[in-house]
Amino acid sequence: MSATGIAAMAETTAANAVAAAAATAARRLTAGEHHRFEAAGQPFVYLVPSAAIFALDETADAIMRTLTERPYTRDELIDSLAGTHDRAQLDATLIELARVRAIDDVAAPEKKHPKILPLTPFPLTTMVLNVTNQCNLACTYCYEYGEDKIVDTKNGKQPKFMTEETARQSVDFMLKEAGDNPTAHLTFFGGETLMNFPVLKRTIAYARQRAAEVGKFVDFSLTTNATLLRPEIIEFLAENQVGVTISIDGPKELQNKFRVFHNGQGSYDVVAPKIKALLQRHRSRPIGARVTLTSGTLDVKRIYTHLTEEIGFWEVGFAPVTTASGRGYAIEDEGFNDMLRQFEALAYEFLEAAVENRHHGFSNVKETLQEIHKGMSKAYPCGAGLGLMGVSTDGNVAVCHRFAGSDAHKLGSVRDGIDREAQQAFLERHHIAEKTDCAKCWARPVCSGGCYHEAHTRYGDTTKANLHYCEWIRGWTDVCLRIYGELASRNPAWLAQFDREEMAEKVS
Ligand code: SF4
Ligand code: SF4
Repeated sequence: MSATGIAAMAETTAANAVAAAAATAARRLTAGEHHRFEAAGQPFVYLVPSAAIFALDETADAIMRTLTERPYTRDELIDSLAGTHDRAQLDATLIELARVRAIDDVAAPEKKHPKILPLTPFPLTTMVLNVTNQCNLACTYCYEYGEDKIVDTKNGKQPKFMTEETARQSVDFMLKEAGDNPTAHLTFFGGETLMNFPVLKRTIAYARQRAAEVGKFVDFSLTTNATLLRPEIIEFLAENQVGVTISIDGPKELQNKFRVFHNGQGSYDVVAPKIKALLQRHRSRPIGARVTLTSGTLDVKRIYTHLTEEIGFWEVGFAPVTTASGRGYAIEDEGFNDMLRQFEALAYEFLEAAVENRHHGFSNVKETLQEIHKGMSKAYPCGAGLGLMGVSTDGNVAVCHRFAGSDAHKLGSVRDGIDREAQQAFLERHHIAEKTDCAKCWARPVCSGGCYHEAHTRYGDTTKANLHYCEWIRGWTDVCLRIYGELASRNPAWLAQFDREEMAEKVS
């Protein structure tokens, strides 16, 4: 048995106790919470409590499979497998499996995810600034303006555009809340972000100056629908090395299904040449596309090929539309199965490229591999409300950009700072230990109940687990574990890039 994840075989007191149990004839042993998968012709286990991955040799696999069926004492187990395996090898492997907590004493108390809240103040790593809540497109499925919107940005009290003063206050807030972190990430968002380009431009200059004064570095990025890109803006983004993500749904007929102007006209013919001009000029950072998948535009491979080969994007990330159930464009059960099959095919294309150290732009698989590689069992699905916060046009701070402007999800303001009580209450209520539906799910180290905004849209409650897409999440996590196992066997050096990136982030 060998470790392929980053979690070490920690010889904790508790682990040694289980190992002792494994060595005691009378104790009954059972398989610990795990997910078995195969990659590169070899079995692996993903251990749920520790999120560690181990490759199993034949003996270890036989033990795990047998103990998954029912509990055995050590002697019963060795007797039952002695016909096909060496007794001494079985004994040694049992002890080793117990040490890494792959097997457990059946009498051990049921382990729950410990409810340990992060220490606050927690450094803010990413601030998403909603510089406007207005948009020049009217995408039918949009969570901000469509049927599932949280904030009334048309008639509500929110200013439609962030002022320069609020943007400056936001920068000061971000640099203060970044704590000891040397780098802060500032992402501009909307509405359509570029509708407030003048404020964006001046905010970057201000953030640069303030960051230099306090000895920090600010990394800038934005999301845009690309309709307002023009030579002057492209020049600015290139010169300032602003990371750009473009929301686009693929070839013309797919883009024009939902991504339309207010008069109903499709946006493809407007955005395609502008994106090409951006890609040609802005080469200092990879430019990514972000695709919203719906039941009517579920053609992953075609969209990917169009966006990478015909438009020229470096990478493409897909997300199923966030919507209440029953909307015509919502992806439901069969749609999730279809999406999984297509993701799997593209992920295996990614694998073949990674084995040969070639680039492949399917960013969903890379992001999940990175999470698996970190070996973290997440207490929260994402950084929202912790290292990531969204700021609305009036300077109120929300759990994330999707809740910006919502009083119910407010965590303070850039003027008054973070409301620590509200933040603490948020972290208390959203911890994975509170999601009893997820307690027995093997995918929880990666999923942790899923996006709060998705839960709010589906169930009207951010604390709910997103049980409508569990099969999809488990299926996708299994695909990525298999890809991870293949890479660990066929090109482990490729996985080492995640360690280098983490180190670079720490010292930048
Ligand atoms: S939401 Fe579903 S897939 Fe995610 S951790 Fe909970 S039970 Fe598992
Ligand atoms: S809550 Fe959802 S939308 Fe907000 S940061 Fe987390 S995953 Fe993203």
